[in-house]
Parts: sequence; C-alpha cells; structure tokens
Amino acid sequence: MTILQIDLNKLEKNYHSLRKRLNPHSKMIGVIKANAYGGVSGPIAERLVEMGIEALAVAYTEEGVQLRKLGIKIPLLVFYPQVQNFRPLIHNDLEPVLYSKLSWVKFKEALVEEKQSDYPIHIKYNTGLNRIGFHPEETDWVLEQLKDSSFKLKTIYSHLAQTEVPKPNEDTENQISLFHQIMQKHNRALKHKPEYHLLNTSGVFNYPEFHLDWVRIGIGLYGFANHPKWNKTLNPIAQLKTKITQIHKVKSGETVGYNCGWRAKKDTRIAVLPIGHADGYSRQYGHGKGWVLVNGKKANVIGNVCMDMVMVDIGKIPCDEESEVVMIGSGIRADELAENAGTISYELLSSLGNRIPRVLKT
Ligand SMILES: *Cc1c(COP(=O)(O)O)cnc(C)c1O
Repeated sequence: MTILQIDLNKLEKNYHSLRKRLNPHSKMIGVIKANAYGGVSGPIAERLVEMGIEALAVAYTEEGVQLRKLGIKIPLLVFYPQVQNFRPLIHNDLEPVLYSKLSWVKFKEALVEEKQSDYPIHIKYNTGLNRIGFHPEETDWVLEQLKDSSFKLKTIYSHLAQTEVPKPNEDTENQISLFHQIMQKHNRALKHKPEYHLLNTSGVFNYPEFHLDWVRIGIGLYGFANHPKWNKTLNPIAQLKTKITQIHKVKSGETVGYNCGWRAKKDTRIAVLPIGHADGYSRQYGHGKGWVLVNGKKANVIGNVCMDMVMVDIGKIPCDEESEVVMIGSGIRADELAENAGTISYELLSSLGNRIPRVLKT
C-alpha cells in the first residue's frame, strides 16, 4: 500500500534552521495552505505552534475553519478570502487579506452585520506580480478607509514574482522599490507604524536585507528552498512509499499499459505500483520522466500513468511482489523529479491526493 510519511522532527529542524537565518526581529508566518503543501495541516500546524511560530496562513477560508476546528488558536491569515465566505471567516476569528476595493467594501459590510469593530486585517499591494493586490495608486483610498474603526490594521505586504532568481534582478528590484514607496506613504499617514512583509522562502535566502517585520515561509518548512545551495540547509519532510502489487515478465516486443505506451526492447520484468494520476502522480511522470527506487535501485516509469496504477521497468533489480518502493524521499528529491517532468516541487507535493494515508513520524 501507498503511504506518505511526514517527519515532524525534520519539520522542527527546518523551522530552527530558517529561524536562525532570519533577522532577529522578524516574525514568521508559516504557510500551511493546501494541506501544508500536500502533507497534513493539523499536526504540522500544532507542531509549528508548539515551536513558537507567531502566525499561520492558508489560502482559503475553509482551510482556516478546519484548522480552528482542530484547535489551532494563533493568528491565522487567509491569503485569498472569497467575499462569499466573509461570515464564516469572522465567526472563526480568521484574519483576511484585503486586496481590492470590492473585497474591502464587502468585508466592511460583513463587519457591520456581525457588529464587529477593530477587526484584524492585512492589506496586500500588487507591485508587479499582477495576481491579487491593490494597485499602488489606490494607496490613498486605502489610507482613507483605514480611518474607520471597524478595522485594525495588522500588516501590509506584497509578493515577489521570482525570489529564487540570482541577484541582481531588475524586475525584483523594481518590485521592492515600489513596495518601499508604499511603506513610506503608510508610515507618513498612519499614527501607528504598521508591520510589513515581502518575502517567501527563497526570498528569505536571497534577500536577507528585506526580512522586514515578517516573512511568509511555506515550502522551506517542508524542506525545499528552490536552489541547491539553500536546499542543503533543509530536509524534505515527506516520503512517498509504496509496495509492489504485481510483477510481470515481459518479452521483447510486448507492450505495457494504455495505448501500448511502452514496448519492451528486450526481455525484462516490470512492477505494477498502486498509485496513479488520481493520487497526484500525474501523467507527466510517464514515459521515463519519472522514476522510483526499488531496493535503492532506479526503475523508470514506463508508458502512460494510469488512474490508480503505474508500471516501472525493474529489469534485474532484486525484488518481489510486496517489496517496498520509494517514490519520493531519500534518494528521490521531489524538486528533481518534478523538474524532470516539467513542473515544480510545489505542484508535485500539493497534488498528492487524499487516497494516500498520511503517516506521522514524530
Ligand atoms: C504560498 C505563498 C507563500 C509561501 O511561499 P513559499 O515559496 O512556499 O515559501 C508566501 N506568500 C504568499 C502570498 C503565498 O501565496
């Protein structure tokens, strides 16, 4: 059977390693959206809280509601709150990121209806990623709204488009300088200087001079930093393991899988593994783009990945039905496997489906 083992001791090590790197006055938002990048958000959140993380963040309100149900009590940001869910957001003490005039107006309406005041909010500016965020020209409008006692401004932030690209990088510098201007405007206009943040994991490594008041760390906690040198300071926490369901001997010329996706060039043995594209092991890993380790030896994925099964060429590797197979983990880095298949560790990890049981190593 297939399991995803999550090593909370490694999570702890990554946390300490990242913390040591931070400017001593910077606080950490642990990003645990998408089930902590395909892991298991409850236990990961609990461990981060135990270790003293100052805040957590999810993408959507529903994810935050679930964490509150699990008893997570520390500040919990919702990066991409949808206006339809502002009431459950308020009922669960979640902190929204407001990013547009519409989101602001709708949130204000929700606060009035729920008879709330001084409600903690975060504001996001778009400095060039062109995803979500107020346009810098809307700063005056935002500052005007902040006079309203419905809101308690906690932080102001922006998100960079390519923090992993080696310095110097003009696009990133432009984004940073735009954010500086936004900071200055807020500092001048507001009685209490707000707190600011800009960096994700690779930004923390690449731009130590901009750690500011907070950093937002996701993938780093899970062991990746988007650069070989930075990766060395971290340990991947997830191992995807399975067991061989069946072994076939195939003769030269025989085909394997749907659409006869692979044809044996010589007599060989193939192993069938119980995981497929429905589990997030997508078709991108077919045709040798993916590989697994059987008794420490590399076996390539052959042909097309099926919905529930995948076949690998085991040649003469000593193994039997029920032998253990490592699909991601020691010896197979998620970032290398993903890159080979034309994607990134973020996608590979966060796509791992909920048919795969999560097993904690504590
Ligand atoms: C997901 C996310 C992060 C975390 O990025 P990592 O590269 O995983 O550290 C930070 N900020 C925002 C706005 C995000 O959506």
